[in-house]
Amino acid sequence: MEIAIIAHDGKKEQMMAFVLHNRTFLSSDSVFLVATGTTGSLMEAEGFKVLKMRSGPLGGDAQIAARVAEEITDMVLFFKDPLGKHPHEPDINMLLRVTDVHNVPLATNLATAQLLLDAISSKS
Ligand code: PGA
Repeated sequence: MEIAIIAHDGKKEQMMAFVLHNRTFLSSDSVFLVATGTTGSLMEAEGFKVLKMRSGPLGGDAQIAARVAEEITDMVLFFKDPLGKHPHEPDINMLLRVTDVHNVPLATNLATAQLLLDAISSKS
């Protein structure tokens, strides 16, 4: 399954702790990772294999939204910073909308991201 990971700057540390904590599952053969640019680069630096989109403000969230709309991406783990201001807010809202349109599981915080991974990793 394809899992998309996005982290706003204020949440990148949290995202990295999360992916390292879940490394075994996220690195398994049943998972294909995609991420926005900077998020993906941080993951690559830790040895993850990840398909990188553009950086979020340059259209990366929109690219992931397109993959959701095409039914390529199966789950989105979005470490959103609710306290930050984001120039690409319209792209973020589009991504949130298309996950609902296509009934794709979406986490927007750490607690939900962990619950989703626990749910699917116990099935695989
Ligand atoms: P980034 O994008 O991974 O390139 O920082 C994330 C975002 O801000 O949406």
